[in-house]
Amino acid sequence: MGDLRNCRRCGKLFVYSGSPLCVKCTEQDEEIFVKVKEYIEKHPKCTTMEVADALDVPMEKILQFLREGKLELSGENTNMILGCERCGKSINTGRYCKDCAASMENEFKKGFYSVEAQRSRDRDRMYTAHRRKKY
Ligand SMILES: [Zn+2]
Ligand SMILES: [Zn+2]
Repeated sequence: MGDLRNCRRCGKLFVYSGSPLCVKCTEQDEEIFVKVKEYIEKHPKCTTMEVADALDVPMEKILQFLREGKLELSGENTNMILGCERCGKSINTGRYCKDCAASMENEFKKGFYSVEAQRSRDRDRMYTAHRRKKY
């Protein structure tokens, strides 16, 4: 017996398999996704609002697809705006623009390296102290 969970959408119990949604809701999502994707391909100049209206899909859903990186805007979809969660710049997919993603990665690395650098400085100091005593 697998791990039973309540579906995040409909609340029904289902066997958990890595997705917070039951099979039915996942299928529904997939259907919506295909519709949205097709609509955007046919109407590249539409706005997110228009897609939501035309397909009777919540706008949140479309944004969710974009944030998850499931749906990607092409260069033609200039009216569909997805903003970077950090600086608000328009992006095609995901949560952050390339600049923010890169700078966040740098900050992360810097944080990591400074701990390492501190540690090796401590080691050096100990070594130097030891040497001074000796000579
Ligand atoms: Zn469900
Ligand atoms: Zn950004």
